[in-house]
Amino acid sequence: MSTYVISGAASGIGAATKNRLERDGHRVIGIDLRNADVEADLSTPAGRVEAVRQVTELSPDGIDGLVPCAGIAGFTGTDPALLISVNYFGAVALAAGLKPLLDLRDAGSVVLIASNSVTCQPGWAADDIVAALLADDEDTARRLATEHEAVNLYPVSKFALASWARRESVKPEWGGRGIRINSIAPGLIATPMTDELRKDPVFGPFADVYPNAMGRPGRAEEVAALIAFLLSPDSSLIIGTMILVDGGTDAILNVVPPRSDERTTFPS
Ligand code: NAD
Repeated sequence: MSTYVISGAASGIGAATKNRLERDGHRVIGIDLRNADVEADLSTPAGRVEAVRQVTELSPDGIDGLVPCAGIAGFTGTDPALLISVNYFGAVALAAGLKPLLDLRDAGSVVLIASNSVTCQPGWAADDIVAALLADDEDTARRLATEHEAVNLYPVSKFALASWARRESVKPEWGGRGIRINSIAPGLIATPMTDELRKDPVFGPFADVYPNAMGRPGRAEEVAALIAFLLSPDSSLIIGTMILVDGGTDAILNVVPPRSDERTTFPS
């Protein structure tokens, strides 16, 4: 039996992952605003510290994995700065804060939740915000975010998460000591978040505009299955990657995979 920590555990993908892992015989510590083992607001530094404190109290002898799943969408009226704080800092601060508990075990796994909006939603580039996020500069990122619409900041926050996973995963203190970091990029998944999307006066009509090969939205359980695999020792060679779990949306919209001459060069 392993002990896993999941934020956003009260709803949608987080709840499905909690159910899946518990069914597989694991212990899950859920974090959420309400209806969770640890009730904390991950949009603020104080809330994140409190979440780490409570998880540490519940599992002082360590944890085997972390899934920072809490996130919000960029709907009409969503505060852009709040989106950045929850989706990016609410995830990476948990990873950093719970690292001492991961270090207590021989191996571990962190699965960040990106999104296929990174490769499928057009026109979201905001390099200055991505740079501020990866520099761990929340004040600057929040200030810059107010110049954008939340809908375009959603893929920004998710791209930065996938980039953080890539950068950190290969460091000696993570991958080097057996703690694997990866991200996953779900497409449209039927959850309370996408139920809300359909009600949005501006973005609702776009809910089903992204095609996939199955002709139906993904199910939270299908995403949970990938997360369970990435947490398990069966995925021991998978480090630093972003795995799409979108029923083929990315394959339909981006027909040509990346070519070798578009890759970055090897470090000298
Ligand atoms: P959801 O709305 O059903 O669940 C999100 C959970 O996060 C909720 O329980 C909510 O209370 C919690 N949360 C929000 N703000 C919080 C805060 N400040 N502190 C603590 N908890 C907070 O959403 P979902 O669809 O299950 O999404 C889960 C994750 O998957 C999110 O990161 C989302 O961006 C990502 N995602 C979802 C989809 C999709 O189509 N549903 C697609 C790609 C990625």
